[in-house]
Amino acid sequence: MPELIETDVAIVGAGPAGLFAVFELGLLDIRCHLVDILPKAGGQCSELYPEKPIYDIPGYPIVTGQGIVDHLLKQIEPFHPTFHFGDMVESLQVLGTPEAPKFLVRVSGGQTFACKAVIVAAGGGSFQPKKPPIEGIDAYEGKSVFYAVRKMEAFRDKNVVIVGGGDSALDWTLNLQPVAKRLALIHRRDDFRAAPHSVNAMREHVAAGRIDLRIGQITGLTGEGGELTAVTVKGADGGVEDIACDALIPFFGLTMKLGPVADWGLNLHENLIPVDTERFETNVPGVFAIGDINTYPGKLKLILCGFHEGALAAQRIHRYVYPDKRLTFQYTTSSSSLQKKLGVH
Ligand code: FAD
Repeated sequence: MPELIETDVAIVGAGPAGLFAVFELGLLDIRCHLVDILPKAGGQCSELYPEKPIYDIPGYPIVTGQGIVDHLLKQIEPFHPTFHFGDMVESLQVLGTPEAPKFLVRVSGGQTFACKAVIVAAGGGSFQPKKPPIEGIDAYEGKSVFYAVRKMEAFRDKNVVIVGGGDSALDWTLNLQPVAKRLALIHRRDDFRAAPHSVNAMREHVAAGRIDLRIGQITGLTGEGGELTAVTVKGADGGVEDIACDALIPFFGLTMKLGPVADWGLNLHENLIPVDTERFETNVPGVFAIGDINTYPGKLKLILCGFHEGALAAQRIHRYVYPDKRLTFQYTTSSSSLQKKLGVH
């Protein structure tokens, strides 16, 4: 049964721009839900460079990619935002009038948000899994080929084959080993990029016969009606063997694609959304674009620019959410009402 959620604002993307927008909206009593296709908050910072130091966040001489995300999550805690992770925002339906817009935002998880404004903070686009180059794999996707593990129970007592050598592949190998009937890990070389403690733990399981490790590549799939029964592996030594497989989980990394944003009726310029620089509103009244996804003269793809854009967008959104209320500019340092919202006593 599709779920209808009423809120003031739906935010597409929980990268740094989307996260800080929650803060600016919260100060103005505006409620929001955030949706991200990734399983966690942080966008590029968490996904692409969690341990790299950033030197140009105002007020932080040095902070890591994950560090700034953790600080942002702490900063928005008082506003209790609701996150929907692992979900793609698929469609945007415009209702209402340009003066009093309303939207229905549909998400892959089945929810629909009924809201008065939308903030597109989709960065370089949605992170999507890279697919392995195996002929015919599409026919098995969603039934016995998965690019993420949503529920471990779905793999109980199955012959699971995981492919890859990075952290995701190794983490899920270790997590699913006790659940699966049999677990095989396939990687093209005997050298893993994952954290050393995960690699060591995996090798202990292999030595004890609890995990089958194969060095090689999958060259074929066997099954019917979307249900796999076996994968064919060509070993690094040239040998070929079939391995029983009910569920294949390849972890070949992520790529960024603009995705469904392109179909929402928003003007696009070279896959970016043009906005004005007073409100960061798009050509559709009530739809705002902040962070890396937008473009305007002089735009810089910097985290600090996304913060500024979210603050100005929130001011305009206040008018859509509270058309009869006048907005008075206030500092958090001196406004007791803002401090109350932040839980400062
Ligand atoms: P993103 O961080 O890209 O987040 C967007 C989110 O939206 C993603 O999580 C994506 O999954 C999600 N999304 C998109 N479409 C959908 C959809 N349809 N449904 C659901 N979810 C969706 N900037 C600096 O200021 N200083 C630096 O030192 C710096 N160093 C960098 C180093 C590297 C290696 C890289 C790659 C970038 C660096 N940047 C730096 C740039 C900075 O990371 C970006 O400017 C910033 O992440 C943009 O934030 P954002 O919130 O706009 O988008």
